[in-house]
Amino acid sequence: MLTDRFRRPITYLRISVTPRCNLRCVYCMPPEGLPAPRDGELLTNDEIVSFVRAAARQGIRRVRLTGGEPLIRRGIEDLVREIAATPGIEEVSLTTNAMLLAKKAPALTAAGLTRVNVSLDTLDAEKFRRITRGGQIERVFAGIAAAETHGLTPVKINTVVVRGVNDDELTALARLTVEHPWHVRFIELMPVSNAQEWGPGFPADGERYISVQEMHARLAHLGLEPAEAPRGNGPARTFRIPGALGTVGFISPLGEHFCQTCNRLRLTADGALRPCLLMDAEVQVKEQLRAARDVSPRLLEAVSLKPAGHELLQQRYPEARHMAQIGG
Ligand code: SAM
Ligand code: SF4
Repeated sequence: MLTDRFRRPITYLRISVTPRCNLRCVYCMPPEGLPAPRDGELLTNDEIVSFVRAAARQGIRRVRLTGGEPLIRRGIEDLVREIAATPGIEEVSLTTNAMLLAKKAPALTAAGLTRVNVSLDTLDAEKFRRITRGGQIERVFAGIAAAETHGLTPVKINTVVVRGVNDDELTALARLTVEHPWHVRFIELMPVSNAQEWGPGFPADGERYISVQEMHARLAHLGLEPAEAPRGNGPARTFRIPGALGTVGFISPLGEHFCQTCNRLRLTADGALRPCLLMDAEVQVKEQLRAARDVSPRLLEAVSLKPAGHELLQQRYPEARHMAQIGG
């Protein structure tokens, strides 16, 4: 069993398989996008798989593929297949904007993917296009439908809540869970390289953040009851509208619960291990993987560097990467 200095079991690995994306959400990427990766900059499938094998030997049991947009990586199905077949790995899941999910769901299921988290911040097609700088909302719904048809369930929906952008839709988004067995999770906006202007009609930095406490209070009229969390609901606190098929979760990166229950390591697409999403410390593993050297010492070093908690409340923000380069 892999545990850190604070006795938290580390069983979960999030892998960003590409920093690139077919969308440019305002809180995640600059409007001009990110520079294209250089030749050889990103880990190959073989390198990622050899890292996962080493991680599984140390006690990692669940893997999530993220990005950037994981479904634009060529050979993503092969990567899923190899990770799913790795001894010790019990579950492979994926976080996606769902633009390509309808097309890829059958192959992903066949490859051994367990389930998907879909990001969706609004039910309004025009607002969706503005937040994502070009996305088509009907593709998200087609993607969710395909995920359900092909057994990539339970579907979780991640919603980043931003004041003046989608906080007027909290009730409508929560109500999706009444008739659908979906798990909608409201997430606080994190200050990760996104303080700049987002464009016309979007609030300024400092006016965007809403706490989960406020979100919860604004949903009081739904009579939310504490509920058992679906598997893999991570740091979410989980509730149910009475009689609903799905659940409503709240994820508070700025609150305590988030760090106390942290069970994860992150691997970036260019081969850096991040002990903490919200701090810039990294441990490089690319050269080890390229030279076929044992990466276990680096992995243990990354675990040993996990802090008790982030320092956002002390105004120490991560600045080295955009969220799309970390994977959320
Ligand atoms: N492209 C995929 C997607 O959007 O689901 C996977 C990568 S994305 C970086 C992973 C998650 O991080 C998404 O649910 C996204 O909404 C969330 N995210 C991105 N930037 C964020 C921020 N600044 N604060 C909170 N969540 C953020
Ligand atoms: Fe792309 Fe996901 Fe970031 Fe949106 S949140 S820009 S879909 S990586």
